[in-house]
Amino acid sequence: MSEMKYQSPVVNPETKPFWDATAEGKFLLKKCNDCGEFHYYPRALCPFCFSDKTEWVESKGTGTVYTHSTMRRAPVPFCLAYVTLDEGPTMMTHIVDCDLEQVAIGKPVKLVLKETDGDAKLPCFTLA
Ligand SMILES: [Zn+2]
Repeated sequence: MSEMKYQSPVVNPETKPFWDATAEGKFLLKKCNDCGEFHYYPRALCPFCFSDKTEWVESKGTGTVYTHSTMRRAPVPFCLAYVTLDEGPTMMTHIVDCDLEQVAIGKPVKLVLKETDGDAKLPCFTLA
């Protein structure tokens, strides 16, 4: 089976620490020190209370499938999904490195950082 090729992400000053961390094998979330909520994608201001007292924290990299769609007719079949992280945020991602027929809503998944054509790695998930 051939592998999906991922392009390196577009990096801006707000997301640079995030992508730099992926190159070192870490998946970061932002946590708000005012309301305590986690968010993804990373932003300077908390999307819940607009506080700027947000900090980077490493995610456990575990969650569950919220919903998914498998593109079976693509040259390389792939599975787009929303995964709800154990920390709370729901993120759009790919499910990889597993039998895509087994992907189902509510199933536990864990983080896989996939190589791109740049230094950054792309946060994807596989069935846990
Ligand atoms: Zn907040």
